[in-house]
Amino acid sequence: TWANVPAGPPDPILGLTVAFKADKDPRKISVGVGAYRDDHGKPYVLSSVKKAESLVASTNPDKEYLDITGLPEFNKNVALLAYGADCSPLKAGTIAVTQTLSGTGALRVGGAFMQRFFPTGKVIYLPSPSWGNHTPIFRDSGLEVRQYRYFDKKTAGLDFAGLKEDIQNAPAGAIVLLHACAHNPTGVDPTPAQWKEISDLVKEKKLFPFFDMAYQGFASGNTTKDAFAVRYFVEQGHQVALCQSFAKNMGLYGERVGAFSLVTADPEEKARVESQLKIIIRPMYSNPPLHGARIVNAILSDKGLYKEWESEIEVMANRIINMRDRLYDLLTSTHNTPGEWGHIKSQIGMFSFTGLTPSQTKALVEKAHIYMTADGRISMAGLNSGNIDYFAESVSKAVRG
Ligand code: PMP
Repeated sequence: TWANVPAGPPDPILGLTVAFKADKDPRKISVGVGAYRDDHGKPYVLSSVKKAESLVASTNPDKEYLDITGLPEFNKNVALLAYGADCSPLKAGTIAVTQTLSGTGALRVGGAFMQRFFPTGKVIYLPSPSWGNHTPIFRDSGLEVRQYRYFDKKTAGLDFAGLKEDIQNAPAGAIVLLHACAHNPTGVDPTPAQWKEISDLVKEKKLFPFFDMAYQGFASGNTTKDAFAVRYFVEQGHQVALCQSFAKNMGLYGERVGAFSLVTADPEEKARVESQLKIIIRPMYSNPPLHGARIVNAILSDKGLYKEWESEIEVMANRIINMRDRLYDLLTSTHNTPGEWGHIKSQIGMFSFTGLTPSQTKALVEKAHIYMTADGRISMAGLNSGNIDYFAESVSKAVRG
């Protein structure tokens, strides 16, 4: 029956984890997968999350099905976290929200909704490069995927002129995917002034802004600051789409908890949109899982837990920033590594686009037991005070060839 099924390529990122686990060398380092690690290289379960779990357990909750769109209080609280209490559409009750299977599920439900109902074409523009899963998600949703320039290899920063030109030349009515903060994989974000220009351009060209916010809090350590782009666009009257994930900022990777929302024109439109989101979700997975939504909701609705969570985000973000500073110093002052390394410090969030070439990354995997994707992206969270010296020394050797 399956004689004609061709073998597909392994997932480039998850494949790295398999190889890393099999490696017996004690010096091995994984900077491939974007999951936070503490300074001992261990997965980190947030203390606010543990307390939220106890709090939830103490109410002895049942295991009944959630609504198709998830836990109603969760939807209310996550929208507040993203859009802010001052958001007019939020106050007016015109934002349709549904709980989803983390950020990926939000993108997939959002993609399906756009494919079915977006009135002005089925073209979505992604930054080049973007998170590797964006293209398959939107392609499988039935959209035509195109790219706009984003990363400038020469400066290891934003190609703002290229971005503007490509958005300018997009057909009116196209969808533009924007990483709200901590762009993956480059770690390069527009400045607030550049966001304002992008907002004007998107408006002028009648494009549709579709935000992916998988790292709220992880860029700056502050959830309000990281929501700047989304909130600014909404203030400017854009009816945005937004995908949220609690994988990174609450460390709830495997709980699969996220949200998809759409700003609509009025409560009646919102009700129509919500009814169609249900019709999309019901045959996909019927309704979302309970546990993660309860944890997120407990944190967002309890002042004490919320404060503790905010300080834990800051700790995670600051540890990463310290690793950036340390790596920069090691590569430059200590090892005099050829090349320009300022971008290690200026890039934002969990990832850094190092500029290492595919042959250098191959050498690092094969000779130094350092696992990273061929594009030279590293997860800064994989570095810690115990392995950063060996990492810098190995990178320096790889660059010298
Ligand atoms: N968007 C971006 C840009 C991401 O980097 C990720 C996680 N790697 C996601 C969405 C979704 O992740 P998850 O489904 O685990 O929430």
